[in-house]
Amino acid sequence: MRPMQKTPQTSLLKWYARRGRHTLPWRNTRDPYRIYLSEIMLQQTQVATVLERFYFPFLEKFPTLLHVAQAPLDEVLKQWEGLGYYTRARNLHHTAQACKGQLPTTIEALIALKGIGRSTAHAIGAFAFGIAVPILDANVRRVLHRYFGIESRDEKGLWAAAYALLDTQHPYEYNQAMMDLGAMVCIKSTPKCDDCPLHEACIGKESNPLAYPAPKPKKSAPTHHLALLVYRHEGRLGLVQRTTRLLQGLWGFVQAPIDNAIEGVYLGRVSHQYSHFGIEGEVRLIDGWVEGLEWFEVEALETLALSTLDHKILACYLAQ
Ligand code: SF4
Repeated sequence: MRPMQKTPQTSLLKWYARRGRHTLPWRNTRDPYRIYLSEIMLQQTQVATVLERFYFPFLEKFPTLLHVAQAPLDEVLKQWEGLGYYTRARNLHHTAQACKGQLPTTIEALIALKGIGRSTAHAIGAFAFGIAVPILDANVRRVLHRYFGIESRDEKGLWAAAYALLDTQHPYEYNQAMMDLGAMVCIKSTPKCDDCPLHEACIGKESNPLAYPAPKPKKSAPTHHLALLVYRHEGRLGLVQRTTRLLQGLWGFVQAPIDNAIEGVYLGRVSHQYSHFGIEGEVRLIDGWVEGLEWFEVEALETLALSTLDHKILACYLAQ
């Protein structure tokens, strides 16, 4: 028998067989829902955090996509609490209902669903259905930028590179290998080129891996200074349901511009950093009934989905 020809793909798969993260729970399933859930949880969150706190509890509460479809949005948001980027949870719920708990099996139909972008559709397609398509998550992007020496962040060019390297015979293993390589070897600030199965033909290694992609121009994140108002009436607290895109559907305390004339008793300061801005807030307690708020016993707040900032405000109130 002739020995297998050495190509970047065979080197990569050999490396993956020895070093890959085979024990990750979403690697041991072909269930499209579990793969979809892991993909969207991992979009903005580290593997360790998803594993430790979110993936299994979510599956325990919603074992199938049909369970998600049949649950009220509030329950899904509550289960997502702490993971942030709540649009993901709202889209998951919307998609579960739109496809009646059964994900479609083609890339085109997956992409048509709300919140499923091209890379997520490809991940579901490759991992659940064995379709020969590449994925393009943050780790894979970095490997491709460096391997092909691509400075530009242009999507079209990167997808072309992804298809050029794809192992069409082994899309499942190839994509998992690329994700692991980006996470474990082609690391953002300290790539381990000497341990890399792609080092022989890698353009980035020859020059400077850190030069790819070209750095993004820095934008400074603004900080909003707010009064965070805990309204209390007959022992109950007044909250509003958020309507902003970032936190839509979550419950929270009233926010107002900082104003020297603002009433209430000062309870403390809290702050929170979102991806594009920060909030520095002064928590104030105001006794009295106000129209337009929903009133809850403190114990009942445990059943509501609150943002991390609102949990901090509640903790500030409870510490008084
Ligand atoms: S050789 Fe270095 S820069 Fe190139 S893909 Fe491997 S780790 Fe990344």
